[in-house]
Amino acid sequence: MTLVGVVGGGQLGLMLGLAGARLGLRFRFLDPAPEAPAGRVGELLVGAYDDGELLARLGEGADALTYEFENLPAHAAPPALLPPPAALAAGQDRLDEKRLFGRLGIATAPHRPVDARDDLEGVALPAVLKTRRLGYDGKGQAVLRDEHDVERAWAELGGVPLILEELVPFERELSILAVRGRDGATAFWSLAENVHREGILRLSRAPAAPKLQAEAEALAAAVLDELGYVGVLCVELFEHEGRLLANELAPRVHNSGHWTIDGAATSQFENHLRAILGLPLGPTHALAPSAMVNLIGDVPPLEAMLAVDGARPHVYGKAPRPGRKVGHVTLLDPDRDRLERLLGLAGEPTGSAATIAA
Ligand code: AMP
Repeated sequence: MTLVGVVGGGQLGLMLGLAGARLGLRFRFLDPAPEAPAGRVGELLVGAYDDGELLARLGEGADALTYEFENLPAHAAPPALLPPPAALAAGQDRLDEKRLFGRLGIATAPHRPVDARDDLEGVALPAVLKTRRLGYDGKGQAVLRDEHDVERAWAELGGVPLILEELVPFERELSILAVRGRDGATAFWSLAENVHREGILRLSRAPAAPKLQAEAEALAAAVLDELGYVGVLCVELFEHEGRLLANELAPRVHNSGHWTIDGAATSQFENHLRAILGLPLGPTHALAPSAMVNLIGDVPPLEAMLAVDGARPHVYGKAPRPGRKVGHVTLLDPDRDRLERLLGLAGEPTGSAATIAA
């Protein structure tokens, strides 16, 4: 039986395991948490991501080795890892990432490295100050609108390498999910439009922005080829004055692609597995307009979610905690009423569906 080793056992691991089980695959995960969600769908090795002995055990007899946790120290990455360790490294440093985009001619927000307090003297505001490494879900970053913000942000974030970006007054946030097989074949899902609140993704809708699809695919393809990539890649984008600016890349399956489980011909999870195992990629077209609502902090009662016609809940089995992603719900052919009800159950401010035109 084919065995896949996965560094990380969170919800992305769980959903990889669910997609793979249908294909007859077996899984082994490595995660520091004994209660990691992926333990429901495979063997779980409990320990640090960079524990050499456990990484060796993870790879024993495995037909492919991948990760769902991108902060695995690149120096600890086993050489057989897919996407390749170079892709993992590229996604771990926001400045390197911006330089990669720049080399490929992909537009980004104007930015500069910040290593000392002096580097913040007289900079144009508003801007966003971010740690170069280990940021996620809005953590490790601060918006600077005036000198007080600069002082406060430096006190909070200073001391580690930082990057300062112009604050882009974007019309909306989009992301492109792409996959590249071992043979170099590529496929792309429809652009998703993403709404964040407090730095955390709340709502994705796809297909979005068909006019920008070709441009998004071209820039994602450039990144895939440059990195000799194998697996699923996400590039997060801003739409600003009709143009795409790349914000960051995630060298793994991504939250803004969860809609593909219910809403696309082949999900990001299945195609990631197909890619790393050298199997043919599946078609990626959308089956219906889809909306995906994240459940943050706590899972609403299942009965209430299922009472929304057509709602497809995905519950990760994680303990409730403020700000934590504990599940998501997909709605196909969403209308305003059902989407508002789901967003309400998810604790989003009412009227928030209006932030994306139906
Ligand atoms: P990130 O961790 O880079 O994905 O940033 C989290 C969120 O902060 C993004 O999804 C945007 O909503 C916002 N953000 C980050 N960078 C910028 C920027 N340069 N201009 C405007 N908004 C930004």
